[in-house]
Amino acid sequence: MMENFIYQAAPMRVLFGAGRLADLNAELDRLGIRRALVLTTPHRLEQGNSISAMIGDRAAGIYSGAAMHTPVEITEQAMQQVKLLSADGVVAVGGGSTIGLGKAIAFRTDLPQIVVPTSYAGSEMTPILGETQDGLKTTRSDLRILPETVIYDVELTRTLPAAFAVTSGINAIAHAVEALYARDGNPVISLMAEEGIRLLASALPRLVNGDNADARDDALRGAWLCGTCLGAVGMSLHHKLCHTLGGTFDLPHAETHTIVLPHAMAYNAPAVPVAASRVARALGASDAGQGLFDLAKGLGAKLALRDIGMPSDGIERAADIAVQNAYWNPRPLERDAIRDLIARAWDGERPKAAG
Ligand code: NAD
Repeated sequence: MMENFIYQAAPMRVLFGAGRLADLNAELDRLGIRRALVLTTPHRLEQGNSISAMIGDRAAGIYSGAAMHTPVEITEQAMQQVKLLSADGVVAVGGGSTIGLGKAIAFRTDLPQIVVPTSYAGSEMTPILGETQDGLKTTRSDLRILPETVIYDVELTRTLPAAFAVTSGINAIAHAVEALYARDGNPVISLMAEEGIRLLASALPRLVNGDNADARDDALRGAWLCGTCLGAVGMSLHHKLCHTLGGTFDLPHAETHTIVLPHAMAYNAPAVPVAASRVARALGASDAGQGLFDLAKGLGAKLALRDIGMPSDGIERAADIAVQNAYWNPRPLERDAIRDLIARAWDGERPKAAG
């Protein structure tokens, strides 16, 4: 039972719904943006072009070099475009990588951002920016980084390949799982967390079984709620482990989260029985860790870190790094149990059973 808590809402405007991108011009005007720089990844340049055409003379140009983990060299290139084109705002259209670039520009310039997320990663809801330079990732939190406006247009998630929709959706669920046992958690965020997990867990099976408008709507709504959780409270073991594994072995973000989550949940469950039962309830399962594993397995996701590029001799190294930098976790970090967790995730085994 949480007796004392602080709840602080983030000052953002959210527009949600199918076809909502049509409101982009009005939102640019609302923020006084007259020369927007449109951001995409190289693969999504076409989408950048069509958005640029849609906003007409409110577009200053497009920068389509966004890349995973927000490399500082890329941000510097984009910053040159910001200056050259005298951009007075950014429109980031894409997943966490593109949104990261918009945030990196906003951190340096305090320019207003409109974000149009097309995956479920949730970065749009947070004041957090992770950047990489010379192979090192640093993370900072600052209100300048928080987007002013987010437009969730369900139509834009139609093109998500099913396998990426699954891992991106489970990446979102991970934010809500850790929010339910966060040290600075609160009842409002816990409500959002449970509903976010419920929406995604019910939507993802429907999504992989065919094109389904209701499922897409539920999944994006779930991702919004889960992203809000990530922006509002502190994360622990699961996110730190994924950060370590991703950074050390250059593993793909959403797939790493999908594989590690059931194991991190099972590790923490004995210390947080109420949160674990809420996760299980949201999944419609009898056990949180096993239920998360069954969800990922049923959706055909990869279940083993070895299948996404982690070498076997990385297990010991990852266990060392995971316990080196002390951080808060509801269950103390025990080297042997963490090593066991990583070894199971490496092999694709079920998470350790409770009790
Ligand atoms: P991503 O943005 O790298 O997208 C993966 C690929 O999918 C890209 O090529 C992208 O162009 C493509 N894509 C995205 N949406 C698509 C769509 N609707 N249709 C077709 N293709 C599409 O991956 P991601 O998982 O969304 O984001 C991961 C990154 O975000 C990581 O760098 C992670 O650290 C960061 N992140 C940051 C925060 C934060 O709060 N700072 C939160 C979550 C994630």
